[in-house]
Amino acid sequence: MNIVLGAIADDFTGATDLANNLVRAGMRTLQVIGVPDTPLLLEDVDAVIVALKSRSCEAAQAVSQSLEALEWLQARGVRQVFFKYCSTFDSTAVGNIGPVADALLESLGARQTVMVPAFPVNGRTVYQGHLFVGDRLLNESGMEQHPLNPMTDADLVRVLAQQSKWTVGLLNHSVLKGGADAARAHLDQARGEGCSHIICDSLDEDDLQTVAEAVVDFPLVTGGSGLGQALPAEYRKREWLSHIADASQLEPASGSALVLSGSCSRATLAQIDAFLTHYEGFALDPLALAASDDHYHEALNFARNRVGCGAPLIVYASALADSVQQAQQQLGVEASGELVESALASLATTLVSEGVGRLIVAGGETSGAVVSALGIKALRIGGQIDPGVPWTQARIEGKDKPLSLALKSGNFGAINFFTRAFEVLQ
Ligand code: ADP
Repeated sequence: MNIVLGAIADDFTGATDLANNLVRAGMRTLQVIGVPDTPLLLEDVDAVIVALKSRSCEAAQAVSQSLEALEWLQARGVRQVFFKYCSTFDSTAVGNIGPVADALLESLGARQTVMVPAFPVNGRTVYQGHLFVGDRLLNESGMEQHPLNPMTDADLVRVLAQQSKWTVGLLNHSVLKGGADAARAHLDQARGEGCSHIICDSLDEDDLQTVAEAVVDFPLVTGGSGLGQALPAEYRKREWLSHIADASQLEPASGSALVLSGSCSRATLAQIDAFLTHYEGFALDPLALAASDDHYHEALNFARNRVGCGAPLIVYASALADSVQQAQQQLGVEASGELVESALASLATTLVSEGVGRLIVAGGETSGAVVSALGIKALRIGGQIDPGVPWTQARIEGKDKPLSLALKSGNFGAINFFTRAFEVLQ
């Protein structure tokens, strides 16, 4: 076993985003959901990402979950630990990025780490320690109104200093321009002066590569998936990675094709319309689900009668805002959401046990409900369908062949996402 990178991600889709980038950069990657409590097969894996739900919980809880994940990764002998958070540095005045980074650093016995949130291809850059989203400072990007972690200050040195018990410094762009040796010298000097956390400027991929080269030997790095994209090239220079022709290679997909959608985002609704011009679908109505079991059985029978026939099909609760509001008014916001999620999760478990082997789930919460109903603990990450959404494969108890699974959160994917996803799987 030779796992190079062990990552701790503070949410599920962030973990998938990092996984997707690692695979694209040539690392065979497994994403595990929470800290595994049973042994896992970790052969032929270069990177493991533990997906936590620690972004917005109490700081103490985020710390203890992250330390548990660290212990599990250390027991697997990972060379470098990566604490992954959002490229918009999502956190509050008390955490959780600072306290988790403090705790991981302490537990690893290390004296310094870097904070590298930049993800230039998505417009997230850092200059003089200030985070930009496109051409706006973070606190003018809309993130200042985020419901859980409003970001009202773009100065990351100041933001982190409030959250961390240690000194925060900056590796700025003028130093980075001098290359990895200059960056390393700057980091060494800062360490000598007691600076444990260093915010790193990065305007583009070249900057991220320079940072990656400077920190490849650090026990702990932290940041967004942009850094994840840059590190594998440095691991390869160190000969820590064996040459793999295609890190996204999964076992051949098998079984019937099904889409389940609980996402009501504009993107998903358009993708469903596009799919329905080619294939059949069944619209789930939360009010009918609440009225009797008949509606669920109608949906199940619709799918059962068709899934074996070769063409993919869709069962969706996704609806326009008006009808979502109607359901929410009559049933309550939480109750209508749960009703839909549990109907889609039951359809998934029944239909997978009956032969569905290629499954797309649309919706972040919906994906969580389906993954947990299927008892999935780990996802091997395959090729990208659209930016941020890869095919994955999961072992399902009682089934010989793995399930091919794509989890698409709301706004991701081009309009032909569903049809193309099955095409690229061939
Ligand atoms: P997204 O990633 O687009 O935000 P989610 O799955 O995270 O999608 O959230 C969508 C939520 O809306 C889920 O809880 C789902 O159960 C709920 N939902 C889906 N369709 C309907 C509907 N027709 N009426 C009410 N709620 C719905």
